[in-house]
Amino acid sequence: MADRDPTYQPDCLFCRIVAGEIPSDRVFEDETVIAFRDINPKAPTHVLAVPRRHLDSVADLADADGDLLAALFSALRHVADDAGLKSYRILSNVGAESGQSVFHLHFHLLGGRAMVWPPG
Ligand code: 5GP
Ligand code: ZN
Repeated sequence: MADRDPTYQPDCLFCRIVAGEIPSDRVFEDETVIAFRDINPKAPTHVLAVPRRHLDSVADLADADGDLLAALFSALRHVADDAGLKSYRILSNVGAESGQSVFHLHFHLLGGRAMVWPPG
């Protein structure tokens, strides 16, 4: 499959979404990142920004991954701007206890409603 990153893992849901093998509602893409709507949205805007490269989570990032993080946050900013959001939340769950359920690095962008703090 042409869109498969060299780090593609066949058992990873988001690798399969990146490759186009599982459909998603994409709202942004460039050569490093794709962003698509969460299938179970927790806010009027709920988008996931995902690197094409497979990493399990933030815990897998290396000091040399600054460009990857810049690309992810650029994507998130574009999505927020396109949605007209002035206030929003970006978060990434790291590990099952924090609520991570898909072990391919992703950042949630949530907006369009008032948020509470701290999250549960
Ligand atoms: P996590 O729980 O790992 O922080 O976030 C994973 C997110 O992926 C969840 O919010 C969940 O709703 C979303 N998700 C799970 N499966 C799919 C899917 O097949 N398509 C899309 N678009 N989102 C998914
Ligand atoms: Zn993956």
